[in-house]
Amino acid sequence: MTAPTRQRPRAQDLLPLARARLDRFLSDLAGLVAIDSGSYSPAGVNLVADWTAARLSALGFAVERVAPGKASGERTGDVLIGRRTGRLAARDGGRRILLAAHMDTVFADGTAATRPFSLQGRLAHGPGVSDDKGGLLAGLTALDILAEADVEEYAEIVFLATPDEEIGSPASRPVTERTARGAHFALALECARENGDLVIARKGVADFLLTVTGRAAHSGIEPERGANAALTAAHLVVALQALNGLWEDVTVNVGVVRAGTRTNIVCPEAELRVEIRSATTAGMTRARAAIEEAAARPAVAGTSVVVEQLDLCPPMEDTEVTHRMMARARSLGEELGLVLKATATGGVGDANIIAGVGVPVLDGLGPVGGSDHTPEEWLDTASVPERVALLAALVATLGDGRHE
Ligand SMILES: [Zn+2]
Repeated sequence: MTAPTRQRPRAQDLLPLARARLDRFLSDLAGLVAIDSGSYSPAGVNLVADWTAARLSALGFAVERVAPGKASGERTGDVLIGRRTGRLAARDGGRRILLAAHMDTVFADGTAATRPFSLQGRLAHGPGVSDDKGGLLAGLTALDILAEADVEEYAEIVFLATPDEEIGSPASRPVTERTARGAHFALALECARENGDLVIARKGVADFLLTVTGRAAHSGIEPERGANAALTAAHLVVALQALNGLWEDVTVNVGVVRAGTRTNIVCPEAELRVEIRSATTAGMTRARAAIEEAAARPAVAGTSVVVEQLDLCPPMEDTEVTHRMMARARSLGEELGLVLKATATGGVGDANIIAGVGVPVLDGLGPVGGSDHTPEEWLDTASVPERVALLAALVATLGDGRHE
């Protein structure tokens, strides 16, 4: 095995390169925020993709665009995948690093015109300024810095930009899964939390539809011939809500209950929509089994329950590897004067999908931002140079495999 001989640049040596790019970062950010790119605005998302593709090509990336087709009846923009081979082959210890950001926002067409990019002191505002245009741009800027610093001690860097993260990535999910497979590490470019924390874990979410079938009967003449689906549903609500607190890392929520049509009919059908969240795959499995068990024993004779899983977003678990990644980030942060902490969150993102195929992910590697999905959304521009330098240093550190 050939050990890499070149000296890896220190994080603080990358910082001046990031500082020198702040003006360009801000003008690029203004340009990106000016493009309406809501998840349901494929034309706008594709403009962001065009721009991102041009930047990646200029940095020596081979760029592939995948039109993901229709997802849940809606057309979305393209998925963008950039790949750049480094000079340290995988067999010599080089690592494949995936950087992931999303191009869509939660905002409708017209928002960029009514609420344009603005700078107030150190805070930038505008639709998507933090979520995730600031993160996307931080990734591109970090790659630019690595190119200038001549850092190529990695097997491959893969840059993934998705068009539909804000609606749960229905269209891009299979592309993300196949792009992520084979990566040694993934760094997700959602912005850092308001307090500067990185994200080491995200809960998984699964949605279930429980359909209860009973038997209708005249409620006055022969109610004994009926089987009340609403009553079975009511018992299920109590049983499923009682799962909360049973396991430390699992929550269960019966969010929708619907049953029956008229007061003079024994209720023949009911449905429940149930969500489970858990920090671990084991927790998801336990909760699912408990739902199926409750459904198998309906409270009212003559009723039956069918359980259907509508949606599954796997948890992004914190693992030994992600803790090691976090330790590297923390020590690089120290070199930059940053005190970095790791946090877990219940919100899901593309990082969950990447973690779901077994790739360790650290998230929150964009600049510091907050109030996402609201008109107050902000990005702390003063955090940009340090966070970009941190990201570049982390890619360099993970890429050559020498810390493992
Ligand atoms: Zn986001």
